[in-house]
This record gives sequence, structure tokens and C-alpha cells, in this order.
Amino acid sequence: MNKRFNFASVTAISLVTLALSSFTTTVFAKSANFTEQQIKQVEHIKEEALKSDLAWDIVESLTTEVGPRMPGTPGDEAGVAWAVAKFNAMGFDKVWTEPATFPKWIRYSESASVVSPSPQKLHITALGGSISTPKDGVEAEVIEFETLADLENAPEDAAKGKIVFINYRMDRHRDGNGYGPAVKARSGGAVAAAKKGAVGYVMRSVSTAHHRFAHTGGSHYKEGVTKIVSSAISNADADQLQRLIALGKPVTININVQAKSMGEGTSYNVIGEITGQEFPEEYVLIGGHLDSWDLGTGALDDGAGVAITMAAAKFATAQEKPKRSVRVVLFAAEEFGLWGAKAYAKAHESELSNIVAAAESDFGADKIWGIESNVDDNSLPVIKEIAQMLESLNVEYIETNAAGGGPDLVPLRPFKVPSFRLAQDGTDYFNYHHTADDTLDKIDPVKLRQNAAVYAVFTYMAANSKTKISGKK
Ligand code: ZN
Ligand code: ZN
Repeated sequence: MNKRFNFASVTAISLVTLALSSFTTTVFAKSANFTEQQIKQVEHIKEEALKSDLAWDIVESLTTEVGPRMPGTPGDEAGVAWAVAKFNAMGFDKVWTEPATFPKWIRYSESASVVSPSPQKLHITALGGSISTPKDGVEAEVIEFETLADLENAPEDAAKGKIVFINYRMDRHRDGNGYGPAVKARSGGAVAAAKKGAVGYVMRSVSTAHHRFAHTGGSHYKEGVTKIVSSAISNADADQLQRLIALGKPVTININVQAKSMGEGTSYNVIGEITGQEFPEEYVLIGGHLDSWDLGTGALDDGAGVAITMAAAKFATAQEKPKRSVRVVLFAAEEFGLWGAKAYAKAHESELSNIVAAAESDFGADKIWGIESNVDDNSLPVIKEIAQMLESLNVEYIETNAAGGGPDLVPLRPFKVPSFRLAQDGTDYFNYHHTADDTLDKIDPVKLRQNAAVYAVFTYMAANSKTKISGKK
């Protein structure tokens, strides 16, 4: 009788315990890669990160105390000093810089106007790398093309003596896939226009916005092709220009850009590491790019990525030293062409196989909705466990296993580094991207916490999993 009674109460107690634990933690009975203690730790990290404003404090500090950080400017230099000091203040075990060189370019001024038939101002910005116009600008009739391909397919002298206007409108998508088709006209438009005899180039901004800010971004010239001014107007101004042209009379505009290429510049990747206990040479690489364009304060692009990953590294290692190292890399001169990332790949070429997981946050600060890997098949069970632990943060598992990673991971691709996309909602990202309007107020502190929590869980699990994650063979 006694025995039976005791048995019953034990059962009752364990049922209650089980019921309680299923409310507070993910049930994880059959984990092959993590101990029960580690799973509890993941839950703890999640809770702490969702309560913390650490990432907000970091991005606020960067965008306020430093501001714009265009490569080669005093702001960029200040950003590097800021990052070194911040890593040290946050207690990272090792903090260091690595140089990266890039072609330096400075913007002085930019303006544009319709000269005839109805004089009015246009809101314009020079694209990165653009040459200057003469002091009084370049003035000519505008010829409109719908796409870069239309311009390239036009007769040889189609734009002779004119200013080419490419009026391609970017599509809005959650995953930002409207950017690829739109950005072609930014990188290659000036060359294509010059080949058809144009004296200037202006495009509809790579933008999903309704405001009147123009979006800058990198553009290129080509050896042997005449360099002409390369610029972009806001969506609203592009609409206006389109309507004026549609009236059927010749439309003349003036573009005045004063800018300068200044030879080779040097900046620095800033790296902070929390050293692993068991396999210190192996590491999780997370990060963003420290530089920004000059027009805004680079809050969404990419102060947010800097803040999310710095904070995540701290959350992931707050209670105990990780098994493998956690390295936060803040890349230099991304906006001018991934120069810091290229330098990193080169400097670390012989030991890139030590990277067990790499992810860059460079798509703003809206919520992370998915996780996608690019790893060896043998590593997929670990990825599934990570994805399972992210479910409660509303992150879904994208099973394609073909993640590209962020832009600064592109130079690591040939080395088959295991890469991840922690996919953010980019629906609104291109409203602000590369404009004067990319400022701190565009970041939602609650969504920023979710980002830091997702990165922290990912980082902890990749650094501590029993199986080492490896890249595709
Ligand atoms: Zn970026
Ligand atoms: Zn950018």
C-alpha cells in the first residue's frame, strides 16, 4: 500500500515537472550534439538577449559618436578607433586590426536641375567613384531608357551629346531580390551610356521609397571608355523627369557634381575574439561592415549588423567560455567593393578551414524570419537542431542549404567556408539604403533585440556543438 502510494506521487511530480518544462523550454530529449545543460543555456541566452538593449547601445554609440564612416574619411578612421575601444570595453579576449587598401574617393558637392522646358531643382546624388563635371556642370538634353539592356542594345550613336537617364524601377520584396536587377544600372550605367556617346549619366535611384532622397552606391568606369558623370535622382524626381519627357518636348537638365578620386586609401578590419577553451583555433565568424556611405549615419547599413553581432558574441559567451572561439569581424571598405573582405580572405587563406560557421548581418535591422545554411550534408543534423531552437523566435528553417552569406563572405566562397544566411525582413530596407535618411530612428529596438537573440543562439550552438560544422566538399 505504502509502496503504491509512493509510486503514484513520484509519477505525479514528474508529470508536473514535464508539463512545466514544456512551457518554458523546448523539449529536446534526443539531442545528438548538445547536452541538456547546453540546451538550458540556449534558453537562458534567448531570454537575456530579448531583455537587453546592448545592441541598441552599440549602434546608438556608433551612429552618434562617430556618424558617417565613408572609407578613407576621418569618420572611417574614427570608426576604427571606436570599434577597437568598444571591443576592449566589452571584454573581448583579443582585439586587433588588419589593414585593407582601396581606391579612395571623396564627394564635395552635387546638384541638378531641369533647365528647360520648366526650370526646377532635382534631388540628386553622385554615385561612388564618379568624376566631377566642369565647374558649371554638364548641360544637355535627356534621353530616357527603360533598362540598362535597352541602352546597351541601342544604336551606336543613340545618346550622342546627351545625358542618358535609365528609368528602371526597383521591385519591393521581403528577401530583397529586386536589388540585383536594379543595381546593374548603377554599376554599369555610366560605361554603357558613354559607349553610346553620352556626356552624362543619371538613373532612377535603386530604391523602393516615396521620399525625395537620392540613393548613392558604387559605380564603375572601364579602361578605354570615356568617363562621364555618374549620378542618381530620387524616385519622386525620376517620376517628374519621366512626366516631363512624356510631354514630347526636348528636356534639358544640368548636373553638377564635384568629387575626386584620390589614389589608394588604407582602412582596417577590426576584429574581436572570445577565445575557445577546447579548440581555440576553430572559430565562428560573425560580423558586419564598419564603413558606410557618407550621406546618412549608416545606421541600417551597417551599424545594425555591427551592433547585432558584437552583442550576440557577448550573449553567447556570458556564462561560460565557448568550446570554439567566437570571432566578430567588422569589415572595412565594403561599400567601395568588399576591400576589407578581400584582404581578410587573403590574410587568412591558409587557415580558413578553421571557420565552423560564418554569417554576416548586412540587411538592416528588421526581424530575422529564416535560417539557411550552406554546409556539408554531415553537418545538417546540427543545423536542424539550431533551427529547432530558433523556432520560438519565429525563425523558420530554409532547407535549401545554398546560403550565400552576406556580401563580405563572397571572397570566402571559393574556400567552401560553412556559411549561413540569417534572413532578415528586407521589405523596407531599400527605402533608406545609401541615403541621407539612413539614421538611427529607422531602427526598431524590439526588432533589434530579436536579431541579437537569433545571432546569439546561432553563435552559441555553432561554437559548442559536439559535431564540428564543416563546409561542402
Ligand atoms: Zn551594407
Ligand atoms: Zn551598402
